[in-house]
Order: sequence, then structure tokens, then C-alpha cells
Amino acid sequence: MTEFKSHMPLALAEARAAAKRGEVPVGAVLTSADGRIVATTGNRMRELSDPTAHAEILAIRQACAAAGSDRLPGHGLWVTLEPCPMCAAAISAARIAVLYYGASDPRMGGVAHGARVFDHPQCHHRPQIYDGISAEASRDLLKSFFEARR
Ligand SMILES: [Zn+2]
Repeated sequence: MTEFKSHMPLALAEARAAAKRGEVPVGAVLTSADGRIVATTGNRMRELSDPTAHAEILAIRQACAAAGSDRLPGHGLWVTLEPCPMCAAAISAARIAVLYYGASDPRMGGVAHGARVFDHPQCHHRPQIYDGISAEASRDLLKSFFEARR
């Protein structure tokens, strides 16, 4: 048994780094079944000219490539913002065991809002979900990012 440790501070650091690159500040950390950190990522849509380069997708791609598998059973994904429908579908496809997220996202979220991907009958794998982790810090980051761009 490994001791429970929040990886949200590290995900928030990735979100801050994303903001410095001019990306919407969202960060993610992916941990293996034995609690090792296997990927830390932030949004890179602008940098890569890729609308799918969300922090969660990049983390899943990195971890899958390292594992040589398209599935990540037992893994935990920490992300600073409620995943969008695309990322939620990828989380399900990768069979990620636990999803920890920070701020909720009524506008773009696809977990507790909108498409509610994991609640859909077509969704064959639903992770355990813990929301609201360091949510205020995540919200503050997003708020100051969008205020600065106005
Ligand atoms: Zn996404």
C-alpha cells in the first residue's frame, strides 16, 4: 500500500507553466498502479497547432507510449479542470481507474456537465471520480489568465 498523496500541486505547476506559454492553464499528472508518476503535462494546443493537445490527452499518449499499451489499468489521472468530452472519452478508452479533478467547468466540461460522457450508456468504463481537489487554485489560475488576455 502506498501512502495517499495529492498530485494536484504538481498538476497546478504544469497549469502555471502552460499559462506562461500562452496556453489555457490546465495541467495533468498521471500515476501508475503502484503510485509512480508516469506523465506530467500541460495544454499545448497553440504550441503544437493541435486542438487535441489537451493536458489529459498528452499525458495519456505519453504514458501509453512508455507502457507500450493502449490501456492504463490501475492508473490515476490528476487534472486541474474538469475534462472535456474528448478527454473523458480518452480516459474511458484508456481504462484509467481513478480521475481526480479540480475546478468544475460548466462551459466545456464533459464529466459533470454537458455530454456527461461517463454516465452515457455507451460508456463501457467509468473511472472512480474525485472532484473539487484544489479547485479554488485552479479557478484562480484560469480567471487571471483570461483577465490578462482581455
Ligand atoms: Zn480535454
